[in-house]
Amino acid sequence: MDRRLAQSVRPLCEGALRSGRSNPPKSGILISRFAAYGIRPSTFDFPSPFLKSPCPMTSETTLILFKPDGIQKDLTGTVLARYLAEGFKIRGLKMMALGDEGLTEHYAHIADFPFFPKLKSFMQETPVIALALEGENVINRVRDILGPTDSKEAAEGTIRGDFGNKDEFSKMRNICHASDSPESAEVELKRFFGDGELFA
Ligand code: ADP
Repeated sequence: MDRRLAQSVRPLCEGALRSGRSNPPKSGILISRFAAYGIRPSTFDFPSPFLKSPCPMTSETTLILFKPDGIQKDLTGTVLARYLAEGFKIRGLKMMALGDEGLTEHYAHIADFPFFPKLKSFMQETPVIALALEGENVINRVRDILGPTDSKEAAEGTIRGDFGNKDEFSKMRNICHASDSPESAEVELKRFFGDGELFA
């Protein structure tokens, strides 16, 4: 897609995001309108919320953790607002200090990596905020809006691209965790929210 064309379309997308309408246009609808003009979105040209067609639509719940760097940078409200602007619904929200055991369980898939001890102490710099969000295809959409692990590689307009560290800690201090699959969302929601702590 022509980069100049992409740049002229991008504000339209961002405007729709910020419009504050209670029922903003769904990304698939916007993308299909652009397709009518022969515009094909790519991951570099569009703000992340518009990258994935929401079809087929399924309502899911995902787990987001606001990490200590996001909390230290006072970004909780900004990040929450970005997610709520998508029309996602809060099912649970709580602040908690994570212990060694909980972190080792949560990060079991990377617990053998050399950076793990530093990750653990980073995650204990402040309490974290756990958020359960519900919506259509919320698991993938929340990850798209967040951006890739390395904030240096995250596109402008994504949370990690806009707010994550751009220094040697760009892979670690990346603002939020978000579940990466329905299976991990199920396990992670149970890990951070007890019986009766998630609301319909
Ligand atoms: P993601 O959070 O994007 O799903 P991973 O599950 O791979 O990424 O890693 C979990 C977290 O571990 C990352 O968000 C980041 O805080 C940290 N991390 C991952 N890779 C590195 C790395 N190479 N160096 C430092 N920290 C890392």
